[in-house]
Amino acid sequence: MDIFEKLKILADSAKYDVACTSSGVDREGVPGELGSTSSCGICHSFAADGRCISLLKVLYTNFCVFDCKYCVNRRSNDTPRAAFTPRELADLTIQFYRRNYIEGLFLSSGVLRTPDDTCERMIEALSILRDEYRFHGYIHVKAIPGADRVLINRLGMLADRMSINIELPSQQSLELLAPDKSKTSILKPMGYISGKIQENTADIVQYKNAPKFAPAGQSTQMIVGATPDSDYQILRLAEGLYKKYSLKRVFYSAYMPVAEHSLLPSVHTKPPLLREHRLYQADWLLRFYGFEAKELLDEEHQNFNPALDPKCNWAVNHLELFPVEINRVSYEMLLRVPGIGVKSAKRILTARRMGSLRFEDLKKLGVVLKRAQYFILCGGKTARGLRITQDGILRGLLSERGMQMLPKSFEQLSLFPDQNRNTTEDVRKCLTGQI
Ligand code: SF4
Repeated sequence: MDIFEKLKILADSAKYDVACTSSGVDREGVPGELGSTSSCGICHSFAADGRCISLLKVLYTNFCVFDCKYCVNRRSNDTPRAAFTPRELADLTIQFYRRNYIEGLFLSSGVLRTPDDTCERMIEALSILRDEYRFHGYIHVKAIPGADRVLINRLGMLADRMSINIELPSQQSLELLAPDKSKTSILKPMGYISGKIQENTADIVQYKNAPKFAPAGQSTQMIVGATPDSDYQILRLAEGLYKKYSLKRVFYSAYMPVAEHSLLPSVHTKPPLLREHRLYQADWLLRFYGFEAKELLDEEHQNFNPALDPKCNWAVNHLELFPVEINRVSYEMLLRVPGIGVKSAKRILTARRMGSLRFEDLKKLGVVLKRAQYFILCGGKTARGLRITQDGILRGLLSERGMQMLPKSFEQLSLFPDQNRNTTEDVRKCLTGQI
């Protein structure tokens, strides 16, 4: 099989993997070496599905001795197979780089014979790139669960970022759908990588030019919608991973049906992209806005409201905390106001030292007033003409998104009270995502 045939198969097989952001390293180009990780925040894909451009995103091989039911590369699937040699992969990367097609490499792999064997081949390919070609660009590599620590260590010294996909959020789901994997076989190397990254940081303090182990940190990916696991379970797991293993990112990947199996959604099921989007929004709230998973969801409300983003949904459900006076409220509470982000919250803190802020000033500071207006006061006053009620806020927020999700009777609430006997119920339904 020629190399382009291999490339076609192995790039296509890699398209289901979304953990490929290259943030986190700022190693600049060096004379006599190739590549730079800092010039343009390189990342993203090669695949035809639109996810990620600019990294060559391929599998080393799509042969796999494992049989994860949700995976197109599983042992039992009848699909064209291919494997690069280390030299082929390194040459291809360099040729693409020189033609300016790509700026880095995102390398994952099926398990060829054993995890150790696969890992050794990946190490050889990366060694050719780094040592022979002096390739200085970004490399993100997937560690193979079950590979020896020594090999993971060598891989981490060659890559900028490492990741191990947790794939499914519970041990039960793994047992059902990925019987060759276990939570331990994934979390153990994750813990090891995390430890090495921390050691590495300590080393840097002493030796500035010491080689660094995966300096861009580690990430993981979870598949959303292949199993009945709820958003709450997924988000709590992500929160735990951030805390325990200091992950840079958790990526959420809407399940794309590739196999007919009684334990999986039908092949005609559409990927739950809105659910994936809500999880990314909530993830952002965990990492940058000081929220905890249990504030956004709980045992009774296990899934995100498709009609509202998680922050708006939280705020509408906690109207007892609003409106807040923009000229006095703490930074932490500012971050909880829909329409105010980290940057605008900081700008507000700075600007209000100079004098009292008005609604007109907030726009200039980057506040999205269309959303924030329902939750704030300026100088003790609400925005002009605004009557803050839960149904009014909901109507405003939904119409801002161009959504017609409330029933007509709900929209006509204040005009025709006698036709709106179900209003309270409608509000409740919308808040719980049933409308
Ligand atoms: S180990 Fe990876 S490549 Fe192999 S079947 Fe499982 S998910 Fe697919």
